[in-house]
Amino acid sequence: MRLDKLLEQEKIGSRRKVKALIRSKQVTVDGQVMMDESLNVDAALQDIFVGDEKIQQQTHVYYMLNKPQGVVTAVKDVQHQTVIDLIRASDQRAGLYPIGRLDRDTEGLLLITDNGQLGYQLLLPHKKVSKCYEVVVNERLTEVDCKEFAEGIVFSDGKQCKPAELRILSSEENKSHAHLDITEGKFHQVKKMFLSVGKKVIYLKRLSMGPIRLDPSLGLGEYRSLNQQELQALM
Ligand code: URA
Repeated sequence: MRLDKLLEQEKIGSRRKVKALIRSKQVTVDGQVMMDESLNVDAALQDIFVGDEKIQQQTHVYYMLNKPQGVVTAVKDVQHQTVIDLIRASDQRAGLYPIGRLDRDTEGLLLITDNGQLGYQLLLPHKKVSKCYEVVVNERLTEVDCKEFAEGIVFSDGKQCKPAELRILSSEENKSHAHLDITEGKFHQVKKMFLSVGKKVIYLKRLSMGPIRLDPSLGLGEYRSLNQQELQALM
């Protein structure tokens, strides 16, 4: 593939920006500065750098989806629309699956890939991948709640959660808004953590997972491919 086409495809920038980068000697192929944008290259066989960023031609697909409520985190479901059903036919791949799970009534960031190894790595408990949620609960939240989350919530069945950071954004008698950072992924974890301090979650949205933040320009049900920076941060 032509060098300029590859860099454009790998989301380095528009064709015009890519050409400018090549002409300003910022692109190297196997250690040599390359100023011919029409050169045929192969990122699987050659080391291609833009500045100090290595170009890895994607053989897998990686999408970030802004999951809407009402859709299940599954590949197939007889009753409900699944997150995989939201992927257009032209973007579908064999083995496409969601990394981790969000409840049917939870919105927000869900990573979808056909790279089984990546999902496995991200979900390993000892990797402690941090996830940030936006939460609305039906009660007043106080600093006492923040302290309990920081010390590690204990569920009614005795299961101990790891310390979590609760940041209150607004707090009223029957409605509070907060951000919560957790590093594990027990079943219904966030809802159960709030229930343990006597509060019911009435809205839940995942904002980030590890280094990946939900792109605010994605509407509910929309998705896009991860860009080169996001992919490098994940790998
Ligand atoms: N915790 C929950 O309770 N639900 C989710 O969907 C995600 C985290």
